[in-house]
Amino acid sequence: MAKNRIGIDVGGTNVKLALVTSEGKILNSSSIPTHAELGYEFTVNNIKDAIRALLKEANLTPKDIEGIGFGFPGQVDYKTGVVKLAPNIPGWVDIPIGKMIEEEFGIPTRVDNDVKCATLGELNFGAGKGCENLVCITVGTGIGSGIVVNGKLVRGAANAAGEIGHIKLQMHDGPICGCGDTGCFEAFASGPAIVAMAEDYIKGGKSTKYRELANPEITPYVVYEAAKAGDPVAKRIFTVMGEYLGIGLASVVNLLNPEKVIIGGGVAASGDYLMQPLKETLKQRSMKIAGDSVEVVPAELGNNAGVIGASLLIEN
Ligand code: ADP
Repeated sequence: MAKNRIGIDVGGTNVKLALVTSEGKILNSSSIPTHAELGYEFTVNNIKDAIRALLKEANLTPKDIEGIGFGFPGQVDYKTGVVKLAPNIPGWVDIPIGKMIEEEFGIPTRVDNDVKCATLGELNFGAGKGCENLVCITVGTGIGSGIVVNGKLVRGAANAAGEIGHIKLQMHDGPICGCGDTGCFEAFASGPAIVAMAEDYIKGGKSTKYRELANPEITPYVVYEAAKAGDPVAKRIFTVMGEYLGIGLASVVNLLNPEKVIIGGGVAASGDYLMQPLKETLKQRSMKIAGDSVEVVPAELGNNAGVIGASLLIEN
């Protein structure tokens, strides 16, 4: 019988852990606060305790586990299991987490970027099941992506492939991006761009529902609530965001000719307000053959994509 794996999804706020079967089924799971401000050793020790607790709960020992996988929101050296840089987890610079965990438990451990993990999850057990070529994007604070070509995750020369969010949509100037450049796709079309646009409309004197709903700040979720309540300005914001996403994805679809584009992340929970204009724009702006053969679908694994995908690193 195939052994179980442990998948670990490290975020800026929480670390999620799960015992996962080789069929992608979660047997048990837990979550601990990251507390990056207390230093990486603190977080690593808590992760080790949480792994022990997970094993104990399932009456298993390290011998029963085939592999441990970690997903991190940042740059990871997949070959050496080192987290190079995780912008939302201060202090995680050149941390050899793979080796640290392997030495502690004697279980083979792999480490990769969190969106690459989510992509593996969706490919094997979610919206991308059966696909040979797909692109999975997450729209939240930024735009992350994972690319699958000929059934394999594309990692690139330095495991840095898939930065769709940094495709340039504008040659000079444009909105400033978190990466330090300007005019990047994600600077036009992510959570902060929704908020910036919503604030601009207010400055321009538009009367909007999201101004009433803000608590106290405007978030993409608040703009979504306003759209649901019928606010035309909020709906317009999602339409423009969807158009930007469609334009950015048209380049990706032309380049890779995927069967599916899978859309996940918190902002994607806005559903058709975003998806409808995205799909229409993608259809209009991509080249005919690639545009006709792609299907745009929502991610299926939701919050579990990270841990399920991380559990698959041992075979990918
Ligand atoms: P992160 O990139 O920080 O991990 P997530 O993918 O978790 O982000 O997405 C969080 C964002 O999603 C927040 O900005 C939140 O306001 C937004 N969000 C959550 N639900 C919705 C919704 N239904 N519609 C639009 N935005 C949403």
